[in-house]
Amino acid sequence: MEILVGRQHGAPNFAMRHYVVEPGGHTPHHSHDYEHEVIIIDGEADVTYGTSVHRIRAGDVLFIAPNQMHQFRNVGAGPLRFLCMVPTSFDCGKPTPGS
Ligand SMILES: [Zn+2]
Repeated sequence: MEILVGRQHGAPNFAMRHYVVEPGGHTPHHSHDYEHEVIIIDGEADVTYGTSVHRIRAGDVLFIAPNQMHQFRNVGAGPLRFLCMVPTSFDCGKPTPGS
């Protein structure tokens, strides 16, 4: 995960993060009390959201509401890349903040 824009750049409210998930890989299955705004840049994934699973691909935009369980699983042949926005009040510097 790479922070493209965050507190270290002086952003007071929002951080933009870039994720790369290798083929067969996945982000943690988790939830938290803040939302995500996500755009898929490259690749194909199955996104678990609550109790449902959605196939998503490059160009798709997702809103992950607070307190919803979610996970991104790369099901494509190449890397899955996406941008994920979070509040800067969350510690984006953690090694595995998930998405
Ligand atoms: Zn998350």
